Amino acid sequence: MKNGQNYGGLDRFRILAAILVIAIHTSPLESYSADADFFLTRILARAAVPFFFMVTGQFVLSPQLASRTRAPGTVRFSRGREQRAVWSYLGKLALVYGGCVAVYLPLGIYAGHYRGLTLGKAVQMLVFEGTFYHLWYFPACMLGILLVTLLGRFLGLRGTLLVSGALYVIGLLGDSYYGVAQRIPALSSVYDAIFQISPYTRNGLFFAPLFLALGCLMGGGRQKACRDHLWVWSCFVLSFVLMSKEGFLLRRLGFQRHDSMYVFLVPVMIFLYEILLSVRSRSVKRLRSISTWVYIVHPAMIVAVRGAARIVHMTELLVDNSLIHYAAVTVLSIAAAAVISYFGDWVKGAGAPGATLSERGKERRGRAWIELDREALSQNVEALLAMLPDHCALMPAVKADAYGHGAVLIARELNRIGVEAFCVASAGEGEELRREGVRGEILVLGYTDPTQFDLLHRCRLTQTIVDYQYAERLNGYGKRLHVHIGVDTGMHRLGIGYEQRDFIMDIFEMKNLAVDGLFTHLCTSDGQALKEQSFTDLQARRFYSVVDDLERNGYSCPKLHLQSSYGILNYPKLAEDYARVGIALYGVLSTREDTKRWEDVLRPVLSLKARVACVRRLCCGETAGYGMAFTAQRDMEIATITVGYGDGLPRNLSGGQGFVLINGRRAPVVGRICMDQTIVDVSGIPDVKAGDVAVLIGKSGDKEISAGDLAGWAGTITNEILSRMGARLERVMV
Ligand SMILES: *Cc1c(COP(=O)(O)O)cnc(C)c1O
Repeated sequence: MKNGQNYGGLDRFRILAAILVIAIHTSPLESYSADADFFLTRILARAAVPFFFMVTGQFVLSPQLASRTRAPGTVRFSRGREQRAVWSYLGKLALVYGGCVAVYLPLGIYAGHYRGLTLGKAVQMLVFEGTFYHLWYFPACMLGILLVTLLGRFLGLRGTLLVSGALYVIGLLGDSYYGVAQRIPALSSVYDAIFQISPYTRNGLFFAPLFLALGCLMGGGRQKACRDHLWVWSCFVLSFVLMSKEGFLLRRLGFQRHDSMYVFLVPVMIFLYEILLSVRSRSVKRLRSISTWVYIVHPAMIVAVRGAARIVHMTELLVDNSLIHYAAVTVLSIAAAAVISYFGDWVKGAGAPGATLSERGKERRGRAWIELDREALSQNVEALLAMLPDHCALMPAVKADAYGHGAVLIARELNRIGVEAFCVASAGEGEELRREGVRGEILVLGYTDPTQFDLLHRCRLTQTIVDYQYAERLNGYGKRLHVHIGVDTGMHRLGIGYEQRDFIMDIFEMKNLAVDGLFTHLCTSDGQALKEQSFTDLQARRFYSVVDDLERNGYSCPKLHLQSSYGILNYPKLAEDYARVGIALYGVLSTREDTKRWEDVLRPVLSLKARVACVRRLCCGETAGYGMAFTAQRDMEIATITVGYGDGLPRNLSGGQGFVLINGRRAPVVGRICMDQTIVDVSGIPDVKAGDVAVLIGKSGDKEISAGDLAGWAGTITNEILSRMGARLERVMV
């Protein structure tokens, strides 16, 4: 299940694609064979730019999609944060484009590009053609993104694909199939009009959208079963052969006005992308920026090579021999791109090695903070979904501030990756999520006082029926409320007794209540003992007997759910419409031992960190902390760290019960933990200084403290440790 994010295939192909783009602009085989050059630069290399569009589609646009593609085609585009991410990407593109326009301006003027430029022509250049020959990519990408986002909002992914496919067909007829359009007078005049506006159809309107949307589609459904390699490769080879035939045929017929778009380019790209996605190798981020820079700088390098050749009188070799010319431009472009890429990082990181990540957002990591691992969370979601049948969705428990993780951060992130149902403990928690824009069903698991019934209505929360009288009061509120009926099958906490069928059926008849769900809670599903297992079986039987009875009496059964975390792990067969997963979603289980048992599947999401405030010497015989509870047995170094029981660190870890990690080494707690501070023993840990990070939960070097360890030392369960993490802690998602 630990698949990491293996985008190594995509990352490596980026470089190849950039080199292919250089080929398009230098015609490496021209000196040898016109046919070979046509094949290389007008057919093979035509995969490069669509590939860049697809990658953009996958990484920029598909986070907007609910990634859970349970029924294909039901994925929807969402708004809010992801939309803002798209806007911010557009902003970045615009900035890069603006920079390129400025940098290439002198070259363009020198080459006579802008002679006789009118305002209309300038706008056309900026929007469609690009102000220098390779720069059309940037406006095309921006226009394409806007279009796909807009289409997606109204038509969903499927509709977007259809429309962008249709646009592509229109583009084809103005590109390598122009000969067809020319032969039909009505079409011909349409294209005349189109070319008044944009000189080519390979632009942001007709070309980019289809590949952006395909990238979205293919990158979005990561969990898809991998198709047989041989089959994909065969399809790829076949479509590539057909595309080559298509290209040569169209050239022979003289149909091509331009040669960027082919019918078979679409299947070629689909199968190529599938192959690249299936490559199991690690992402190499560096290649991303290098390939982008190669794309940006290579025209300048063409000029540089030509200029240098003239100066050293080697034009014959370096320019006239097309292959050597190509090689020279490629080497120079990659070298320049690498320099720029590393230099960029150096500027960003201000030269401080390793500072880049931890320095970013440092304003939110001042004293003591929680770091949330976004990737771990989404891997846990996928791992848990993989254990459940397709019809069962997750309804994560984000109560108690998402077990201390930060409910808003967690729920938003879950929303982003397609989770559409949540449960909370109180109406107030539900209200907060709604206020912060969390979508989907929110079930309040606990009692809501009648004074807060208006919250249920106003924030579209779903309320649990805790007993029959409570149902009557909810019904008496007068406005329509959504409810799930809790059934007490033996835990005796909340819910209507399973044997009270008539009462349950009565609730279905209450005119102000919409019964959306029926659930029970298992109280021994974590246990391995026979007694516990048979009690779980009994609870399940009781629950299903209610369900059967309702069905027999003609009630259409609402959503059903029984499992919480341990229910999913130990009783996967009890999966119904929802699984109310809590602790497991956060990558841990209640005890250290259980967490260990599932560590290959679940990854902890939370780390708790604080800072060293100061380091000082403690001489033998001196005491430290409240109550003089600790006395130094030898001279030692102690550090005060900026976290205490007010932040959720259990006070009974005081005095040698627990330790923290500093610079990958253990520092035992000294004396009594205070409300805001803790003293630790750092004797023997070299170079500890103020500002250093102390890890309370999480990894440091090769050492790790799990929430389960803390729970074990404190004599409680992980759930309690996590849910008591204080509100004062800063929370960041990394
Ligand atoms: C808290 C809670 C859950 C989640 O429990 P975990 O064991 O953390 O998965 C599920 N159902 C109900 C009713 C709960 O109160």
